[in-house]
Amino acid sequence: MISVTDALTHLFALTNELPSETVPLGRANGRVLATAVSAKRDQPPFSASAMDGYGVASEGAAPGAKYAVIGEAAAGHAFDGIVGSREAVRIFTGAPVPEGVDRVIIQEDVVRDGDVITIADRLDKGFHIRPAGGDFQVGQTINAPRELRPSDVALMASMNIANVPVIRRPKVAILSTGDELVMPGEAPGPDQIIASNSFGLQAMLRDAGCEARLLPIARDTRASLEAAFDLVDDTDLLITIGGASVGDHDLVGDVAQNLGMQRSFYKIAMRPGKPLMAGTLANGAMMIGLPGNPVSALVCGHVFVLPVVRAMLGLGQAPTPRLIAKLAAPAPQNGPREHYMRAHVAHGELTTFDNQDSSLLSVLSDANALLVCPPNCPELAVGTEVQYLPI
Ligand code: AMP
Ligand code: MG
Repeated sequence: MISVTDALTHLFALTNELPSETVPLGRANGRVLATAVSAKRDQPPFSASAMDGYGVASEGAAPGAKYAVIGEAAAGHAFDGIVGSREAVRIFTGAPVPEGVDRVIIQEDVVRDGDVITIADRLDKGFHIRPAGGDFQVGQTINAPRELRPSDVALMASMNIANVPVIRRPKVAILSTGDELVMPGEAPGPDQIIASNSFGLQAMLRDAGCEARLLPIARDTRASLEAAFDLVDDTDLLITIGGASVGDHDLVGDVAQNLGMQRSFYKIAMRPGKPLMAGTLANGAMMIGLPGNPVSALVCGHVFVLPVVRAMLGLGQAPTPRLIAKLAAPAPQNGPREHYMRAHVAHGELTTFDNQDSSLLSVLSDANALLVCPPNCPELAVGTEVQYLPI
C-alpha cells in the first residue's frame, strides 16, 4: 500500500498534458486558455463621455458660464467639428469626445434655454471622460493557462478576439463492471442493483471540462471485460469501476494486464478507496481502476481523478486544494489509513456524519465536505482546526 501523496505522484507521472484547439468565443467559457491572447485594439478606442450632458473646454467652466450649443455627439455618432471656447456639444454616454472638449458637464448642472446653456450653481467636480485605452491597450495580454470565466469571455470579446485557443477536453471512457449491475431505468432482477457511481463520475468529469462517455457495463467474465477494453479507442483516460479487489470475481486488473496494461501501482492507504490501481494501456491511454463501492469511487474521483484531469488540462500537478474549518463536534480517532470522512460544513464549522459506510450514497449526497483525517490521528476535540475537501 502506498500513501495518497505517493499515489498522486505516480498518477501525475502517467499524465500527459493535452494539445490545444481553437473554439469560437461563444464556446470558450469554462475551457482552459492554452496560449496567451492579446488585445487587438484599445478600449475605449477614443476618449468617450461617461455621462449624458454637455461637452465643453474645462478652462473657464464655472457656475454662470454660458455656451452656445453647436451640435450633438451620441454613442456611435461622433461630432465632426471642433468645439470653441464658448461653445458646447450636447453629448451622451459612450460618444467620442470632440476636439476642443475636455470636460462633460452633466445635464443636471446646466440650465438650457434654446441653444444656449448656463452652468448652474451646483457644479459637479468630475470631468466625466473615459480616456482612450483606459480599460486596456492594444497588445495587452490574458495569460495562459487560465480557466476562462464569463468575465474573461466579455474581456476577450471587447479585445475583438473571436476565436480562442483552448486545451482540448480530456476524452474519458467510464467502464462499470459487475454481474449485479443494470442501467437506471431498466428493471433489475431480484439480485441486481442500479449502476450509480458511473453516472456520478461522468457528472464530475463533465463539470471538470471532460468529454466523458459511459461504456456498456462489463460482466464479471474475462470475455466481457476484454470486449469492453476493446471499445477503448480515441480515449485519454479509461476509468474502470469495481472488480479491483481480491475476490474471485475481481478480474479487472488481471484482464487489463493481459491486454498489455503497464501497472504503476495498486492499493492505497486510504479510506474509503483502498483498491485503487493505475497504469497505461497498450494503446497509450491512461487507466485508473476505482473501487466499486459508490462512495469509494466518488471520493477517489475527488482525490485522484480530478487532479489528473487538471494536469491534463495544463493546470499544474497539485492535489485538490483543501480548506480549513473548525470541528463543531469531536472527530473519532483514526487508524493507519488516511480517512476521508463525509461531513457537513456551515459557516466554517464542520460536523462529520455518524455512519461512514462506503456504500451509503445518501450520506455522500448530504455531505458538502470530506474531512481529511491523517493516518493515526488521535480523537480531535470540538474547535480543532481541520482540513477538508469541498465537494
Ligand atoms: P467490487 O469492487 O466490484 O467488489 O464492488 C464493490 C461494491 O460496489 C459491490 O457492492 C458492488 O455491487 C458495488 N458496485 C460496483 N460497481 C458499481 C457501480 N457502477 N454502481 C453501483 N455500485 C457498484
Ligand atoms: Mg464487482
